[in-house]
Amino acid sequence: MIVVLKKNISGRQLEALRKKLNAKSVDGAPVLLREGEKILLSEKDVRLADEISGWPGVERVLTEQPPYSLASRASHPSDTVVPVGKVNIGGGRFVMIAGPCAVESEEQIRRIARKVADAGADILRAGAFKPRTSPYSFQGLGAEGLRMLVEAGRDCGLPVVSEITEISCLELFRDVDMIQVGARNMQNFELLKELGRCGKPILLKRSPASTLTELLLAAEYILSGGNGKVVLCERGIRTFETECRNTFDVTAIPLLKEMSHLPVLADPSHATGRAALVRPVALSAAVSGADGLMIEVHDAPEWAESDGAQALTPTEFGALKTAVGGVLPFAVDKEAEA
Ligand code: PEP
Ligand code: MN
Repeated sequence: MIVVLKKNISGRQLEALRKKLNAKSVDGAPVLLREGEKILLSEKDVRLADEISGWPGVERVLTEQPPYSLASRASHPSDTVVPVGKVNIGGGRFVMIAGPCAVESEEQIRRIARKVADAGADILRAGAFKPRTSPYSFQGLGAEGLRMLVEAGRDCGLPVVSEITEISCLELFRDVDMIQVGARNMQNFELLKELGRCGKPILLKRSPASTLTELLLAAEYILSGGNGKVVLCERGIRTFETECRNTFDVTAIPLLKEMSHLPVLADPSHATGRAALVRPVALSAAVSGADGLMIEVHDAPEWAESDGAQALTPTEFGALKTAVGGVLPFAVDKEAEA
């Protein structure tokens, strides 16, 4: 059961509400999803729903809830907007995240950062801790790589996002604007719990073997810890098809928007593994209602330490940005508004 509080609930009403819930032995934990809007998560005592919905400061009480209550659209009908530095993800503006798969050197990340910024990127991406399928593949530059990324982003005025692979590294991410949970860690529950306690925006990527409910339950771990700044990302799933690295699940985009209030991004680079497929898949995601794209970009893909085959050049990225602008008026939510 979820008790949705009125936006203008007073401190006194909130305190009285807590006392009443305690008196009724309902275990209520306040969760701040957005400033001015508090939701009390409590035990499933549906018999109390009618009574509680009449209490001062209560907007409504939701009893029929999917297991991912806080992530659900029902608990929070309006779209959540997640601020990442100066950039807002969700709520209307289409966001382009771009950058190489990995930070390879100071020179490389500075050069590519400048090029993607000039080509219209909103946020710079690059991995410093790389979760690679093979232990013999390039593993990333670690803490030094994060420092290089942060400085490159600062120099060209872009917020940065990078992937965390284990809790003990969290302190190293203090200057990183958004923390990515990669597909392989989507169900690393201890990591998710810790990220729920940190105030940073989280980019949560779907595991290639997870259902949308499992993705939203992973988001729920972060939300229920008190961190409401979660952005979801569809990046392809494992199917019987072997032509591509993964199979891009375009249906996930409108479905997630229906199931949840959280912003949804698409990553056509990891979904396809092939540069030539990035553009058509990216455009399909944009038309399907995604809030933005995450695109791997390298200025010398043939020399990239990782994922060169799926990297767009900065020029191709610029052309994609223009093409996205051309299809956005046909995006599903825009059509609904018209
Ligand atoms: C990445 O974005 O760098 C990455 C490794 O992606 P995924 O976790 O989706 O494989
Ligand atoms: Mn990659």
